[in-house]
Amino acid sequence: MSSKSHHKVIILGSGPAGLTAAIYTGRANLSPLLIHGPLPGGQLTTTTEVENFPGFPEGVMGPDLMQLMEKQAGRFGTSIQMDTISAADISKRPFTLTGSNAVYTCDALIIATGATPKLLGLPCERTLMGYGVSTCATCDGAFFRDRIIVVNGGGDSACEEANFLTRFGKKVYLVHRRDQLRASKIMQERVMKNPKIEIVWNSQIVDIKGSKEAGVSAITIKDTKTGQTRDLACDAVFIAIGHSPNSSLFKGQLRMDENGYIVPEPNSAKTDKPGVFVCGDVQDHVFRQAITAAGSGCMAAIECERWLESQE
Ligand code: NAP
Repeated sequence: MSSKSHHKVIILGSGPAGLTAAIYTGRANLSPLLIHGPLPGGQLTTTTEVENFPGFPEGVMGPDLMQLMEKQAGRFGTSIQMDTISAADISKRPFTLTGSNAVYTCDALIIATGATPKLLGLPCERTLMGYGVSTCATCDGAFFRDRIIVVNGGGDSACEEANFLTRFGKKVYLVHRRDQLRASKIMQERVMKNPKIEIVWNSQIVDIKGSKEAGVSAITIKDTKTGQTRDLACDAVFIAIGHSPNSSLFKGQLRMDENGYIVPEPNSAKTDKPGVFVCGDVQDHVFRQAITAAGSGCMAAIECERWLESQE
């Protein structure tokens, strides 16, 4: 039978938002419990060097930065627990979270569950993930030096990744399903000016060919105007078609936008449920930076502390 425990504050998620909320609520003597899933540290653990986090003039490796944040949270009395939460009931207080190992209740909840890269939904994509298919150019780009690389998507992420990947690949195809990029003008210009990038317009990837042993050998693309398919030889495919917020636990319980991002009150981390706060990428589809996530984690913690005080 699973155990039960009660906490003043529970933080869900261990990326920069969750760990910053832990540092602040810990320093406020709230002894927070931080719960994370099987991949602690959030998206930064899948990047290599982070060059734009203030305080690290020489850059810092993503996993190292997360370890430092975890150590700092621990210093102020945060307990960290790995568990997969399958249900959340925030309809009444205390709030209840049901995990695989235990049932947790809390007076206040800080949601910092982040976002997950979207996939195309092709079976081959999952099989070849890590064997030539990737969602993270910074993590995996260096494996494809002097190779032919495909980036899929037409937004800022795809353009940024395509540009970045020209540092390694001898040729980068940017495959986009329409005849216009969604990316900002400046990103579009960088792509257009880069001699190593060729845009493949009106094209949807319908298959990725290869094996775990040999890696990726080609993609099959379907022309979205004519319906014709053809193969394009390549060694790697980077999927950059956006992110999905990890908010399904709270669907129907919290205000969300049409894409499932939790919507806090303006200039605040408060959700529409008193005692529930939100920070990081699960509420931010615009900036999606470690530093903005950390900043919103700080906001959530301060508002949480004030809210708890007002309840006493
Ligand atoms: P995004 O703007 O939502 O773009 C996603 C792209 O993927 C779109 O071009 C979309 O095509 C395509 N796409 C979506 N689903 C697809 C599917 N199933 N098959 C094929 N293509 C598909 O996502 P993002 O590029 O990750 O950017 C998200 C936010 O972060 C944006 O606000 C962006 O400005 C910001 N961001 C900023 C920077 C920066 O400023 N340095 C860098 C990265 C991201 P359609 O165009 O046809 O819809």
